Amino acid sequence: METFDIVIIGGGPAGLAAAITAGKSNQSVLLIEREARLGGILKQCIHDGFGLIRYQEKLSGPEYAALEIEALRNTSVKVKTLSFVTDIEQEEIGFSITLVTRNGIEKLVTHELILATGCRERTAKQVAIHGTNPGGVLTAGSAQYYMNILGQMPTRKCVILGSGDIGLIMARRITLEGGTVIGVYELKNQPSGLTRNLIQCLDDFNIPLYLSTTITRVFGADRLIAVEVSRVDELMQPIKGSEQIIECDALILSVGLIPENEMAEMIDVPLNPETKGPFVDQTFETLLPHVYSCGNSLYVSDVADFVSETGEIAARSAMDSKIGARNLIEIIHNSTIASSIPSHLDLNKPLNHVIIYFRSRECKNKQVLSLIIDGRAVFSKKFKQVRPPEMERLLLDLSKYEISKSLELRLEDES
Ligand SMILES: Cc1cc2nc3c(=O)[nH]c(=O)nc-3n(C[C@H](O)[C@H](O)[C@H](O)COP(=O)(O)OP(=O)(O)OC[C@H]3O[C@@H](n4cnc5c(N)ncnc54)[C@H](O)[C@@H]3O)c2cc1C
Repeated sequence: METFDIVIIGGGPAGLAAAITAGKSNQSVLLIEREARLGGILKQCIHDGFGLIRYQEKLSGPEYAALEIEALRNTSVKVKTLSFVTDIEQEEIGFSITLVTRNGIEKLVTHELILATGCRERTAKQVAIHGTNPGGVLTAGSAQYYMNILGQMPTRKCVILGSGDIGLIMARRITLEGGTVIGVYELKNQPSGLTRNLIQCLDDFNIPLYLSTTITRVFGADRLIAVEVSRVDELMQPIKGSEQIIECDALILSVGLIPENEMAEMIDVPLNPETKGPFVDQTFETLLPHVYSCGNSLYVSDVADFVSETGEIAARSAMDSKIGARNLIEIIHNSTIASSIPSHLDLNKPLNHVIIYFRSRECKNKQVLSLIIDGRAVFSKKFKQVRPPEMERLLLDLSKYEISKSLELRLEDES
């Protein structure tokens, strides 16, 4: 059985960045991808806006992926595409990985394992909609795949449920290709997508966004012919009498992304119910030593550049793994913050370059984020506005502080 120092599962931007970083060491590194081509979801994101941080340039998804793949070519990393990881087991020698490849089943062993398996979309089964089960109900990512990879038009006249970024991007794409988007219907009273996507994808194309509204029923036998739209109350329950029937041939769902962590579950990596990704320390090592997580399988990010950054951090951690015993303390936060990573700080690892990502629970103006160490406020940063769709990033030098017991993030109104 072939043995590697580091194996990375997933060849999207997180896995590519991890592979490029690890490939600069003299350790043996393998990158495994189930699809024929590297790049992950970037392959189908043909709009621009990627790379502003990493390349100081506005790139499309495929252009961003191409630069990463080019950088990978200059390393000694071994790449296996069309290879699906179906099983991982922890053994004394490390982790044994089973792959289904074109040559049949293969097994290999690694000392360090980086999980970069991305995220998946919530589907129609995960939102309560009554009615039949017709064709034409699809996720925004599937619509994106049909249009941008297969060159097929999945709809002529559709409605979009949910105002997540992929749905907004697809509203524009469908319109540009001659289709009609009747409207985007959002259950919450606030849009879920980034402000720039609301402006560039909806406002610029006169596509209406209806807040506090949802789809309650679908109609059609083989193919969708109409949907029922209802207003919702403060408890997000449909208001009787507000129903409206809208004729359309497709319902496109953009109702959230969930980190993909089947691989982590196979080896009992503890998962954080708040983020749905693994609990990790500041180097993105999970609570199961020698296993690291990055990209959207760790924390769903709205910017690919941050996804790449997490891959680099995880790889550096895997490269220096033999540091010794861990001394973990939890990083907690108040309820104004919906989620944050890392969940832990390892006091035995470097503390001078700690990156914290967080999302607020609600849209709020004039907020201040404080960092409380062992009960003392040591740092604060003001935010003009925080919005749940926009992930915030903080770079901290925590080596300046004595930390023994606790670290808390507190987001509060500016006094
Ligand atoms: C459907 C969809 C559409 C999106 N569209 C946009 C967009 O338009 N704009 C935008 O900014 N962001 C978009 N995103 C967000 C996007 O996911 C991130 O920006 C970025 O691609 C995440 O990088 P990643 O490396 O974490 O995951 P991914 O890019 O998803 O890469 C994960 C890789 O892991 C591989 N993999 C998973 N499991 C296995 C296994 N068992 N064995 C082998 N390989 C495996 C997958 O094949 C995939 O290539 C989209 C996300 C989704 C799910």
